[in-house]
Order: sequence, then C-alpha cells, then structure tokens
Amino acid sequence: MKLPTCWSCHYSYRYSESVKYLFIKKCPKCGEQQYLTTKSNLKTGVPAMVIMFLPTLLISVFLDLSFASYIAIVIILFIITLLTLPFSLQFTNKKEPLF
Ligand SMILES: [Zn+2]
Repeated sequence: MKLPTCWSCHYSYRYSESVKYLFIKKCPKCGEQQYLTTKSNLKTGVPAMVIMFLPTLLISVFLDLSFASYIAIVIILFIITLLTLPFSLQFTNKKEPLF
C-alpha cells in the first residue's frame, strides 16, 4: 500500500491530498495536471462499481432488507472505498484509455 506521487516533480502525496485528488486533479506542489493510469483507473473503478451494484444485489437476494439497512450498507462501502482509494491511485502525464 503506497500513496501516489506526482509524475512531474515526484512529490509524494499525503493521504488527505490524495483524497482531494478526487476533486482537484492537480499536483499540490507544482500544479501539473495528473491523470490516472489505466491500471489505477481499473483499481478505482472496480470498488466504485461494487458500491453501486452490491447493495442492489443484496436486496434482491434478501428481500426483507429494509431501506435503512440498504443505506447503511451503501455508506459503509463508500467509507471503505474512500479509505483505501488513495492507495490505488497512480498518476501519469497524459490521458490513458480506459481499457
Ligand atoms: Zn508535482
């Protein structure tokens, strides 16, 4: 588990800065635009898909699941993803194709 570094100045992101990357896609030190590598895009895309589909899947399996439990599951999954996401970020200087 390793936090990302800037492709341009090799600045090592701090945890809070990598979370901010989700909103501001620029290096906090040199201001260069950071793009996700294809590999890293997959690693961050898969948990996002899980968050969207797993709760729906669970509800169709356990039909008696209440709406409150559904929301709780979504929030827990979201927090887990947010906590681990920065470690799967990897930056490059140009936009790479998704696959
Ligand atoms: Zn930089």
